[in-house]
Amino acid sequence: MAEAKVKMQFGRVTLEVDASSVKDAVAKLSEYGEVFQESQCGRCGAETLAYEHRQHDGHDYYSKKCRACGAQLDFGQHRGKDTLFAKRKLANGDYDREHGGWYHWHERKPATEGGR
Ligand SMILES: [Zn+2]
Repeated sequence: MAEAKVKMQFGRVTLEVDASSVKDAVAKLSEYGEVFQESQCGRCGAETLAYEHRQHDGHDYYSKKCRACGAQLDFGQHRGKDTLFAKRKLANGDYDREHGGWYHWHERKPATEGGR
């Protein structure tokens, strides 16, 4: 298998991965794409997004935030791996077809108080 450098543009983010094979390239771009492919806020469409990492009580929290309207998209962590996935489900378990998981903090407050 040939080594390759694969570059891809996700909105304002350019990623370059070192791939050992075409499968490896797809796997890596898929992992990164999960987090970086979306360049617009799922609520207001703004492209002023920022990435956030917080630590609380020994846990790590990863999210993407819209600087324009304050909406955020949370990322969950795959167990035992270094990868993230976008949390796009509603509290009832259904896929969030309307906003793709983007929410404003005040909307989720009642659900978090009872423990998610
Ligand atoms: Zn927004």
